[in-house]
Amino acid sequence: MEAMVIGGGVAGPVAAIALRRIGWDVTVHEACPDPAGDVGSFVSLGDNGLRALEAIGCRDAVAARGTELPLLRLWSGRGRQLGEARRGRVTLMRGHLVETLRDLAQEAGATIVTGRRLVDVGAGRTATFADGGSASADLVIGADGIHSRLRGVIDPAAPVAGYAGLWTVGGRSAHQVAPGTFHIMFGAKATMVYAPTPGGTLWAAQVPAPKPPARTPERDELAALFAGDRGPAAELIRRTGQWHPRTVMQAMPGGVPRWHRDGMVLLGDAAHPMGAGQGANLAVEDAVVLARCLRDNPETALERYEELRRPRTDQMLKVAGANRDAKVSGPVAARVRDVMMPFFFKRFAEKGGAWMHDYDVEWNSVSAPASAST
Ligand SMILES: Cc1cc2nc3c(=O)[nH]c(=O)nc-3n(C[C@H](O)[C@H](O)[C@H](O)COP(=O)(O)OP(=O)(O)OC[C@H]3O[C@@H](n4cnc5c(N)ncnc54)[C@H](O)[C@@H]3O)c2cc1C
Repeated sequence: MEAMVIGGGVAGPVAAIALRRIGWDVTVHEACPDPAGDVGSFVSLGDNGLRALEAIGCRDAVAARGTELPLLRLWSGRGRQLGEARRGRVTLMRGHLVETLRDLAQEAGATIVTGRRLVDVGAGRTATFADGGSASADLVIGADGIHSRLRGVIDPAAPVAGYAGLWTVGGRSAHQVAPGTFHIMFGAKATMVYAPTPGGTLWAAQVPAPKPPARTPERDELAALFAGDRGPAAELIRRTGQWHPRTVMQAMPGGVPRWHRDGMVLLGDAAHPMGAGQGANLAVEDAVVLARCLRDNPETALERYEELRRPRTDQMLKVAGANRDAKVSGPVAARVRDVMMPFFFKRFAEKGGAWMHDYDVEWNSVSAPASAST
């Protein structure tokens, strides 16, 4: 069997590796010429994403490109600790994650073609590309991200992602903070996420705004956003040597109604645009679960894949929305957040968060057929 994967970001190469593990031929078609390398921004993989990578033999290679930060601490802008949780977490540049996954996919025997943008898919699952080329396969997998083209092919009425009320900019700072902890500080005007790594402290400022600014603010303007907050945010910005590009956060709160049709299926942000947070983790999980379903019940694999994944990704979309609300709230709501969060975070971290972090793709057990087929 042969799969064509559209998109060589996170979900695409993981799907390619997992499908090679079950004996499929795979070609990945990626629109951009190369991964972002050390540029771009950083992502964190939690226990759930790392466990899914482990199932297909990729955890160690990915972890080796990043920094383990097992402690998470949340802070208010007044310097009050709002929460603390200890969990597996590897933080790395998104470009390094993509680079590593693509290398692993090629080692597993997949072909990756870069600079190839999907335009359409017609009869017989024949895809056409912007460079004039075409290709067909038994299965077309849309791992083409938040603005997925395949989503619109599967369902021309599919909604599109819109601005989520938050933009972000970041960098790598020479200002050092103690190693081993990933921090999130909810400031008066913006949120600062920062992570110590051997090469400097990675940080990302998440700024609420009714619309994205026309230009990226200067260093002093950014630092001024955190001037009233306690903690290292302003200093991190002042001592930044390498800047990561500004990103406008996008979301689709209602979700994607249709994930598959006629041998075409969506994964990752194409299926459930998350904005940030757990998006890369879910993309990895999706890809491994899809391959497991194809391995165990090829006839009903796409139905079973959606059955297994939809409840979890819907729940995660709700959490992502709540997390965004916590960052875009006004001063009164922010005070309430700072008072209530220690209570709720403790409960969530100790009990309620298990569904998110303990999830297992169950690669080594046989998946049941889709329930409609039993
Ligand atoms: C600032 C920021 C921080 C984040 N932090 C985290 C984090 O800490 N943890 C986490 O889990 N997630 C995080 N995320 C979310 C995470 O990056 C995404 O959810 C994840 O990358 C989704 O993976 P994907 O493979 O579905 O899509 P992508 O990684 O976006 O990959 C899609 C790929 O498809 C390609 N493509 C697009 N259109 C076409 C086409 N027509 N033809 C061919 N190729 C195409 C693109 O070039 C791209 O390479 C963050 C996101 C942002 C913006």
